[in-house]
Amino acid sequence: MILFYKAFFYFCKMNNKKLIIAIDGYSSSGKSTIAKSLAKKLKYIYVDSGAMYRAVTYKLLKNNIDFKNIDKIKEILKSTTIDFIIQNGENIIFLDNECVEDKIRSLYISSHVSEVSAIPEVREFLVKIQRKLGEKGGIVMDGRDIGTVVYPNADLKFFIDADINIRAKRRHLEMEAKTGEKINLEDVKNNLVKRDKIDSSRKHSPLKLADDAIVINTDNMTKEEQLQYIFDIVKKKEDELNSSS
Ligand code: C5P
Repeated sequence: MILFYKAFFYFCKMNNKKLIIAIDGYSSSGKSTIAKSLAKKLKYIYVDSGAMYRAVTYKLLKNNIDFKNIDKIKEILKSTTIDFIIQNGENIIFLDNECVEDKIRSLYISSHVSEVSAIPEVREFLVKIQRKLGEKGGIVMDGRDIGTVVYPNADLKFFIDADINIRAKRRHLEMEAKTGEKINLEDVKNNLVKRDKIDSSRKHSPLKLADDAIVINTDNMTKEEQLQYIFDIVKKKEDELNSSS
């Protein structure tokens, strides 16, 4: 009998529905850090959709492509591959089989990415890949339009916000660590303000709060508090969905 209950419990665990979790927000609001640690804790896949827009920007700049030349961009996209490969527990981005994880974090890429991400053809190309990645559920994806466009039916949607000065300091630290370059804090802040403006006002899939998103301001929360807060909400949702299925 005990064996039966054990087998039943194991079966139920195996059939646990794995959620699709969308985390959107302004640049450097801390959403990637939360998304990454949440995915690790849940044993879900983590996808940084911003890295995908950065990778396309990197390729267009490297090939000197005019951002207004849509035919050329379409042609380039046809022969573009974007993959995520887990290395040392981190999901690393590969563009055309080349690891570009560090190259795409520079201020140079940051200052062009919003222009590229406003191109509908680029968005359509990447959204297709993003949806495929989440086909089986068990995914945490962060970006700008995840809860509104990529997964409008996501099981949970979060919108992360933080004060602009706090965001600038965070991005500055991250960029210096990733690129090894000395970077001016004011330049980083100006870039964030500019990107927020372009990302929120573009015609195609602008950054906006989904009606059913849970808003979290991270100004006065440690990373551990943010993670615990979201993790508790996710567990509650998982229980709700699994008890109703
Ligand atoms: O998240 P991250 O700051 O790396 O994103 C870089 C840029 O990619 C954003 O400023 C935005 O222009 C674009 N982006 C987007 N939609 C997403 C994710 C990122 O337009 N889902």
